[in-house]
Amino acid sequence: MSRRNPTDRSRRERTKLGRTDSRRHHRSMLLQHLFGAGPASRADLARSSGLTRVTVSDLVAELIEDGLVAELGAPAQTRVGKPPTLVGLVADAKHVVAIDLSVDDRVVGAVLNLTGEVICRESRDRSGKRGEEAVALVQEVAAGLIERSERPLLGIGVATPGVVSSDGVVIDAPNLGWAEVPLAERLQHDLGHPVYVANDANTAVVGEYTFGGGDEDGVLLIRLSTGVGAGLILAGTVVHGRGAAGEIGHVQVQADGETCGCGRQGCLETFLAVPRLRRRLADEAPEAVLGDAGQRLGAALAPVVATLNLGELVLSGPLDLVEPLVLSAADTVRERVMPVSAEQFVVRASKLGDDGVLVGATGLVLAGELGVS
Ligand SMILES: [Zn+2]
Repeated sequence: MSRRNPTDRSRRERTKLGRTDSRRHHRSMLLQHLFGAGPASRADLARSSGLTRVTVSDLVAELIEDGLVAELGAPAQTRVGKPPTLVGLVADAKHVVAIDLSVDDRVVGAVLNLTGEVICRESRDRSGKRGEEAVALVQEVAAGLIERSERPLLGIGVATPGVVSSDGVVIDAPNLGWAEVPLAERLQHDLGHPVYVANDANTAVVGEYTFGGGDEDGVLLIRLSTGVGAGLILAGTVVHGRGAAGEIGHVQVQADGETCGCGRQGCLETFLAVPRLRRRLADEAPEAVLGDAGQRLGAALAPVVATLNLGELVLSGPLDLVEPLVLSAADTVRERVMPVSAEQFVVRASKLGDDGVLVGATGLVLAGELGVS
């Protein structure tokens, strides 16, 4: 947007806004360093950020005043002279409320600290509640957790199945009966804290990247829950496509397969959705069921792995299902791609286990409020 005759006032405001933005950005750079690399001296921070020592000291003072950072004393080994004082992130400076709606017919929530550690939990039966009733239940669980948190709240992160816009509108979540629900805006209005809403697989991949040591060059996470979704991070950024990136669950992998919830036959989801796997495991041998499911997954993902030259594929979901799937999916991908694509390509279960989505929802809030990822 350009204006031909900007008044002095608007010019002043823009300059001021520019300064606030860069200050916020510089704060984020320092927090990012302390978050990713651990405690550091002010001189370390100046070196890593490229900011002047004066600016760093000034920003650190502000972060200490906010309680996000604290002085930790001097490191043990130092040369001659006054040893530098280290500063570090205060894990319990603020808390985050995280809600996971991807667990079948439950609303699972927790209070977590800034390092993704769970402080307390809450889990409620959804009892088939949909639409407005489901929104009210989410709000109730979040309000209860806010009450239980003993620290200032940084914000609320919600992970839901379905397609979610970047500003937290749930465009379509059939299991919850939501279509075009402005969930972030509504919860923020009613609960009085910043709210971030994202798709569950995208949330899980944020968790893996922020807290689970995810590969910097590219992580594809496949989330097995009521359905099957994918979250993709490339060059440090979640890929949204035109809004529905990661919707791999309804790719057909067998033309005459079982009928899927979407009405078509043989979608990937008919082989890998948790309720379907559990049903098959009730009357078939586990090796056969999980071996077959892993092969289907590997076959569907091999073209993606080769095209993007991905470093890492992470499977997230119930560990008793995910661990055996890792092996057969990895073998199938490797059989189907060139050695150059398979080299150093890793398939693993999420390190965050069942809490992956809750931890990821914390990551959404950290990224949005502090610029840390
Ligand atoms: Zn389908």
